[in-house]
Amino acid sequence: MAAPNIVVVGAGVVGLTTAFVLSKHRDVSVTLISKHMPGDYDIEYASPWAGANYFPVGKPGSNLQKFERATWGELDKICRQVPEAGIHYQETVVYGRKKDEGSATGQWFAELVKEDAWFRDVVPNFRVLSKADLPNGCDTGTAFTSVCINTAIYLPWLLGQCVKNGVVFKRAILSHISEAPAYHHSRKGADIVINCTGLLSAKLGGVMDSNVYPGRGQIVLVRNEPGVMATVSGTDDGDDETTYIMQRAVGGGTILGGCLQNGSWESQPDPNLAQRIMQRAIELAPALAPKTGKVTELSVIRHGVGLRPMRNGGPRVEKEKIDGKWVVHAYGHAGYGYQSSWGSAWEVEGLVKSILSEKARL
Ligand code: FAD
Repeated sequence: MAAPNIVVVGAGVVGLTTAFVLSKHRDVSVTLISKHMPGDYDIEYASPWAGANYFPVGKPGSNLQKFERATWGELDKICRQVPEAGIHYQETVVYGRKKDEGSATGQWFAELVKEDAWFRDVVPNFRVLSKADLPNGCDTGTAFTSVCINTAIYLPWLLGQCVKNGVVFKRAILSHISEAPAYHHSRKGADIVINCTGLLSAKLGGVMDSNVYPGRGQIVLVRNEPGVMATVSGTDDGDDETTYIMQRAVGGGTILGGCLQNGSWESQPDPNLAQRIMQRAIELAPALAPKTGKVTELSVIRHGVGLRPMRNGGPRVEKEKIDGKWVVHAYGHAGYGYQSSWGSAWEVEGLVKSILSEKARL
């Protein structure tokens, strides 16, 4: 790669992973600018709110599937070799209900719940559960080994890896993507801008992607331990509600979810929904409340709301010239930004290389 100056906009899991991948090229000079950084909790910043686990949902043949498939190997490697990054393996069960097939959560989990899921040869120990092992009301069940990421540890770890490779971090709020090049720390401007602004790509000047919208997710973080990572494709409490339970690595607590409320920008937790989430979680994983089986046995660390950066057509990872400058977009990773992060970042790397070789030919 020639010696370009690059500005990455956004410090969510997509921006940080992308900056890390690009910074491994020693002759590339990367500045990362962002409104929010690891350590912040804000409704405009999805990454800290995620569970986060590896539950592939990409349709066969889609870019998302390609990114998810590619990402497993790196998460697996970090899990084995970098314990301080805050990822651990989790034994996982996934239950499907036929009646959820048309619902918001059922469509989201359509690939995940398949007994012949495409990722059966990606994750270890994939197996189909016998009907006798399914909870009441569930029609399908699979089990496999997945991972759960403690986002409060992993995001700062990614940032640290970038800093170690020379990436310079700055706070900034852009109103137009064309403002980004001027933020390069060399003060000579950037050759390429990487747009990792997530949901705010819907509002950023020069991008204004009308296909992007929020998919509201509400969670409860508790100290109790579930014994298993588990999910069900839906509930009888509403088409946009589901149940998932995941214990974060290195003392990060257990995330109880959730919902997928498309189009909602509401930042405040709904106490009634929180109650339903906790009740359903205990029913699915009784180990959470072994003494009483009641919600009052849950020790709550935090209630939270995050907005998944949904996008009609899936994540946008492509290059575009805006006001004469190359921009590589990487946004719209919806409810799968962690599990697709490495594949997405390598795709950006390939696009950057293609821009540079095109420039070299001119
Ligand atoms: P964000 O994290 O939102 O980051 C966007 C960045 O851009 C921020 O730093 C912001 O400050 C910056 N920015 C935006 N606009 C501007 C501007 N104009 N100027 C400067 N900076 C700007 N994914 C999984 O893979 N597994 C899971 O288990 C999982 N669970 C989830 C559970 C919940 C409740 C939620 C809400 C999400 C979950 N996700 C999960 C999805 C995942 O969190 C997102 O896909 C991911 O965080 C998106 O990352 P991002 O970097 O694109 O966006």
